[in-house]
Amino acid sequence: MPHPVIVWFRQDLRLNDNPAFAAAIRSKAPIVPVFIDDTNYGRSAGKISLWWRNKSLAALADDLKTRGLKLIYREGNGLETMRALVTETDAATVFWNRQYEKDTIARDTELKSWLKDNNRQGEGHVGNLFFDPWQIMNKKSGSHFKVFSPFWKACLEAGLPCDLSAPPARIAGPEKSPEGLPLPAANTPPAPDMETLWQPGERGALKMLDVFFDEALEGYADNRDIPGGVTTSRLSPHLRWGEISPQRIFASLGEARLDTRDGRKFLSEVGWREFSYYLLYHYPDMPKRCLQNKFEAFPWRDAPEDLEAWKQGQTGYPIVDAGMRELARTGFMHNRSRMIAASFLTKHLLIDWREGEKWFWECLADADPANNVAGWQWTAGCGADAAPYFRIFNPIIQGQKFDPDGIYTKTYAPELAELTGKMIFAPWEASPETLSDAGIALDVDYPAPIVKHELARARALDVFHAL
Ligand SMILES: Cc1cc2nc3c(=O)[nH]c(=O)nc-3n(C[C@H](O)[C@H](O)[C@H](O)COP(=O)(O)OP(=O)(O)OC[C@H]3O[C@@H](n4cnc5c(N)ncnc54)[C@H](O)[C@@H]3O)c2cc1C
Repeated sequence: MPHPVIVWFRQDLRLNDNPAFAAAIRSKAPIVPVFIDDTNYGRSAGKISLWWRNKSLAALADDLKTRGLKLIYREGNGLETMRALVTETDAATVFWNRQYEKDTIARDTELKSWLKDNNRQGEGHVGNLFFDPWQIMNKKSGSHFKVFSPFWKACLEAGLPCDLSAPPARIAGPEKSPEGLPLPAANTPPAPDMETLWQPGERGALKMLDVFFDEALEGYADNRDIPGGVTTSRLSPHLRWGEISPQRIFASLGEARLDTRDGRKFLSEVGWREFSYYLLYHYPDMPKRCLQNKFEAFPWRDAPEDLEAWKQGQTGYPIVDAGMRELARTGFMHNRSRMIAASFLTKHLLIDWREGEKWFWECLADADPANNVAGWQWTAGCGADAAPYFRIFNPIIQGQKFDPDGIYTKTYAPELAELTGKMIFAPWEASPETLSDAGIALDVDYPAPIVKHELARARALDVFHAL
């Protein structure tokens, strides 16, 4: 029997279009599939994302089982656990798809050199992006791109790769599998609507893509900013855990769809994800530090009560509160709502974007090491290619513009159901009669605003100009 090989699954919980898994199959050696809950490298998943991951692991284990393979699950220091597994199984090669956080890169580099020193091999692949971040460089400056549009243009000019693969029906495993721990359970969804909305795992991801193509791709370029209804793909948690690859999305779009404005816009959003990882690689301290250095001196407010009101969807600004409550109920928040909520925290409340990022990390099913930080820095105005700080969203106008009938807002703030027009987004401006007819007593049924928009805006601009 030849030496087995190990496939180390991490952020790529799928069997199709998985370059590391495909390379292991090509080696024709018996395969040991492994997942390690790494306690030392990479950021530990938050509560909601962990539920998703555990569901996804169960789906992956089932898919492997039908092909004759057993997923080995272990917990501990990723590097040491993998070294022990290699020794135990006498594996010749370890295959993985690359991760791009600073410490995960260091871990993989160390593993690779240890494998080499021990006459074995480590083989990293690009599995969750179109390109490794060092492949796309600005030819004129010789440096990396700092702005999205030329970056994405360079990606398209390089030609997005499209290497799809499907595993065979039966795959040989080792004569004797190493011991693993039982897979962690994911019984009770930590947010009430999660179970009905989502199907974690590769099959769920492919289904979600089909639903999007059938129901929302047409009109996507115009509708994607509307948070009510199905206007976007909701693929982000699936992409976060690698249940579907960007290459599969690109291939499924196909030429006909890419010939349309909607198709191109959708692909360019997947490009923003690529850009986030690109930034994370080129600015490894980005999870902690503002990309624009001057923002490190920003006098953020220490305001625990305001922060708590924001987290609980009790700011008194209905469109902000609806977003935060959508998050609590579903483990997801529409992109427009994320921008409004993040802008409110960093500009109206002057609270450090890192506080918001931490909360999103805990509460989002798609909480992503690159996208979350990039999204926060972009909205706060301190990131690369960011919205300028002085562009401060008016939460009333944002509501009127993107949720004109209040469908989304009323779904998550049902206490406002009887209000109409602008009053849905500014209930404090309604007359006492209107409020009473709508059954609302401010600060009893729904909070009064925790800060006045005009004052907050002026305060934020003052601080920014001083900076
Ligand atoms: C403050 C803030 C925090 C965010 N945190 C995360 C996060 O933790 N995880 C995450 O995946 N996205 C994050 N985003 C980006 C974006 O909001 C989500 O990717 C998007 O809402 C997911 O919905 P969708 O899959 O329906 O998107 P679609 O519109 O269908 O887009 C398709 C895919 O493109 C990618 N994408 C879309 N918009 C963006 C964007 N602005 N930046 C990067 N990639 C994008 C996602 O992978 C998404 O699944 C954040 C944005 C902001 C403003």
